[in-house]
Amino acid sequence: MTTDTTTLVSRNPADPDDIVVSLRTPGAFAAADAVERARTAQPGWLRGGAAARAAALGAVATALEAEAEELAALAVREVGKPLTEARAEIARAAAIWHYYAQAPYEPTGAVHETAAGAGLLLSRRRPYGVAGLVTPWNFPFAIPSWKAAPALAVGNAVVLKPAPEATACAQRLAEIIGRALPERVFTLLPGGATEGDALVSAADVVSFTGSTPVGRAVARAATARGIPAQAEMGGLNAAIVLPDADIGRAAAHIAAAVAGFAGQKCTATSRIVAVGAALEPLREALAEAFRAIRVGNPADPATVCGPLVHESARDRVADAWQGLSALAGATVPDAPGWYAAPTLVEKVPPGHRLLNEEVFGPVAALLPADDLAHAVRITNSVPYGLVTSVHTGSLDAALYGLDLLDTGMIRVNAPSTGVDFHLPFGGSKQSGHGPKEQGRAALEFYTSSRTYTLAPEGATT
Ligand code: NAD
Repeated sequence: MTTDTTTLVSRNPADPDDIVVSLRTPGAFAAADAVERARTAQPGWLRGGAAARAAALGAVATALEAEAEELAALAVREVGKPLTEARAEIARAAAIWHYYAQAPYEPTGAVHETAAGAGLLLSRRRPYGVAGLVTPWNFPFAIPSWKAAPALAVGNAVVLKPAPEATACAQRLAEIIGRALPERVFTLLPGGATEGDALVSAADVVSFTGSTPVGRAVARAATARGIPAQAEMGGLNAAIVLPDADIGRAAAHIAAAVAGFAGQKCTATSRIVAVGAALEPLREALAEAFRAIRVGNPADPATVCGPLVHESARDRVADAWQGLSALAGATVPDAPGWYAAPTLVEKVPPGHRLLNEEVFGPVAALLPADDLAHAVRITNSVPYGLVTSVHTGSLDAALYGLDLLDTGMIRVNAPSTGVDFHLPFGGSKQSGHGPKEQGRAALEFYTSSRTYTLAPEGATT
């Protein structure tokens, strides 16, 4: 144990007196040590074969399903995730492990003709060794799962450094994964920036999800070491609404995408761009939809908008709407938890921080656009590029958006939130760095390609 340890305290955001977990962080040395130990276990894990890896990943999926209700309750308590969303997250995490449990049987390469004619050329993907995973608190089961499952499936060992705010969730997930895997193949490294930084300095491949400033620093550190890294970061996502959209449906989708889980999703909507004549009806429909959002105790299955994760997060949100004209919300409920009402603001002056920075709370700005081209320019004008939703009855408008919007994901007539884990996931510009996550893209990210030449006697190579 080194002297760079601190006390980590994770609290219930709905009841801040409830301490979910408190521990001494292990420090930087522990990160290097965890990677070294994982490195000794990794070759056996790889050589153990596809069947053993498939069975282990399948066992994690089954255990998540068996313990789903207890795990969902823990996510409610530790990060304030509304129960209905927490249940959906556990189901998604289990589905991710089931999906990647098939991956060990997938082909790992290809056979090619040699240029000279004789012999065999083979390309084959191999794991890097130890994958260092650094994760945020907002999807405490799904995000560690969508990184760890593909990394393990292809034969890496894993060291996971979760966000301090989700430490208890990570401990439960690690217990479940640890039961299914040989010793040291998966290691939990609790802690904060010190441990995260030390893990990035020791791992063989790094996958990060979190805020843009930290993600960029992680990507720089990994690149300086010459190891592959991916960083999925913040968003400032727009919803574009055209006059021909089903305005009521669009308003309901958008309100849920702004305020669900108190806007604490990288894919949450924070800018609503109304094109031409859509503005007036949308304005009214949104104000109504925002006021209808159920705010309160995240343990209530009817709650859509629970508390913010920290007092400082709640204060940052309340600060963001100061001085702006509010169509809904802009209040802080009088409750022991760190709540903020779903808030819709308009007439936001150009250059305002709501239009440039991720606030990560249940707040959105309503912005008018002259036409679709103008709406696309507004959407693309920010440094982020994660996801855009387009609400329209016109195929032409949807196709125009697909061609010109500079975001990693575009969703037509659907909320900006929501992820299909079997397709590539990630953003452009300051929302994403490096190869995408999930699906087959993840299997490639956690492996590098080797080329083998098998030359018969006398062949020219
Ligand atoms: P954060 O950047 O504060 O922390 C993320 C992780 O990085 C944590 O585990 C943290 O302990 C660790 N960390 C902090 N400093 C570090 C350092 N110097 N070196 C290495 N690791 C370090 O983010 P957060 O508050 O946990 O999560 C919220 C953010 O995550 C939001 O910006 C949100 O948009 C983003 N997010 C992005 C996605 C995506 O896929 N694009 C998904 C979920 C969340």
